[in-house]
Amino acid sequence: MQVLSVASECAPLVKTGGLADVVGALPEALAAEGVGVRTLLPGYPDVITKAKGKVVHKWQDLFGGPARLREAKVAGLDLYLLDAPHLFDREGGPYSAPGGLDWPDNAERFAALSYAAAMLGDEHAAGWEPDLIHCHDWQAALTPYYLKVLRHRPTPVLMTIHNMAFLGLAPPDRLDALQLRETDFTRDGFEFWGQISMLKAGLVWADHISTVSPTYAAELLREEFGAGLHGVIQSRRADLSGILNGIDEDVWNPATDPHIQAYKTAKGKARNRAKLRKIMGLPEAEGPLCVVVSRLSHQKGLDLLLDALPALTSRGGQLALLGSGDPALERAFHAAAADLNVAVRIGYDEVLAHQLIAGGDAILIPSRFEPCGLTQLYGLRYGTIPVVALTGGLADTVITASPAALARGVATGLQFHPVTADALALALDRLCNLFQSPDIWAQLQKNAMAQPVGWGPSARAYADLMKRLMNAP
Ligand code: ADP
Repeated sequence: MQVLSVASECAPLVKTGGLADVVGALPEALAAEGVGVRTLLPGYPDVITKAKGKVVHKWQDLFGGPARLREAKVAGLDLYLLDAPHLFDREGGPYSAPGGLDWPDNAERFAALSYAAAMLGDEHAAGWEPDLIHCHDWQAALTPYYLKVLRHRPTPVLMTIHNMAFLGLAPPDRLDALQLRETDFTRDGFEFWGQISMLKAGLVWADHISTVSPTYAAELLREEFGAGLHGVIQSRRADLSGILNGIDEDVWNPATDPHIQAYKTAKGKARNRAKLRKIMGLPEAEGPLCVVVSRLSHQKGLDLLLDALPALTSRGGQLALLGSGDPALERAFHAAAADLNVAVRIGYDEVLAHQLIAGGDAILIPSRFEPCGLTQLYGLRYGTIPVVALTGGLADTVITASPAALARGVATGLQFHPVTADALALALDRLCNLFQSPDIWAQLQKNAMAQPVGWGPSARAYADLMKRLMNAP
């Protein structure tokens, strides 16, 4: 079976979050299940420089300028790159200019990506036709619309939601520019409160919708989590799956990690903790060293952590945080670092992320919603106890240290609910208690490190689903 995966990010080439990790890791995981994957990405300057690749198709005019499709192989990935200089050849991030503002033509940029995906099979652009197209998030979500409505192609499309909060909105005066028919600008189509929602088009026209954890799939049916599209999700309930993300077990392996003092059992964490304290300028302490590696956004609930911090520091605990994003949160964490037991690095740093996860005793993830979350999985693998909000993938991957779970020897972390500063403070207090019982703590670490967090079962679930869609009448 041959699959075209369409996305705006793919590790190790271009990454702003977990989406890239998943898009980058799935091809290898699916290969083991007999599914071949080629990935279509925007031709950002860095990506073109790294991959180069040979031109296999040309468009004279693709959404306002000439474009070429390049075929390349990088880091074991079979890639198609949409080399469209008028859309992608610019300084800055995948979605925003150097100052941080979104590119004004993001709708056209990613509509073009979806259009190219739909054409690829249709025109045999590259002499290759996929059996199924796998679209990731709003940036790829117009693919099934272009494919089915404009091109009349039956190729099955799987639409995966990595984060429902990003709706891919554009004003209605862009209908023509985006090659969308006005007759589909309706409640049953891609209209969303007077705007175009590219994500909604994906939810309406894809053959199947999946998201990245079973709990998030159930949450999306509810108004609280559905970002205004819960009604659409409800109407497609029969075609909805939740498949957990795995992690790249080679990149995140404490026994071979080149960025840390490698270790096989949690005892080996001590040296990493000492080194981490040096790196972050933290003193020795009695309590647990808690770490955070995260985007700083409202979703991640880190404002709650600012309020709950005294529950940790008053018990001799410490916080080391790496993150970037919302300037107000960046400033607030800078201010919090006035406390000697709080250390903050604003920025994006892969190496430091590994050092934090290896050196921390616990990793804190107080997200208001979390489709899957990857850092709790890294934490488990490294024996770094996750303290997480009871939501989405965090609910599916952590076994909270209830008396029953402790008695049965299966606990791996702590979950708290509701997602408030008070509930987080209680969880941090409980964490400090557990940390003071060396036997219980060692058992938690052992359980965490033994929990499977790789792609195996999830790759099988994707492959089964894809084969079922390919063979559907
Ligand atoms: P999201 O995709 O919502 O940001 P995930 O937990 O799914 O959250 O994935 C986040 C990914 O980005 C993880 O691989 C994490 O290690 C990485 N990450 C987030 N912030 C940083 C940072 N400041 N520096 C390095 N890596 C980061």
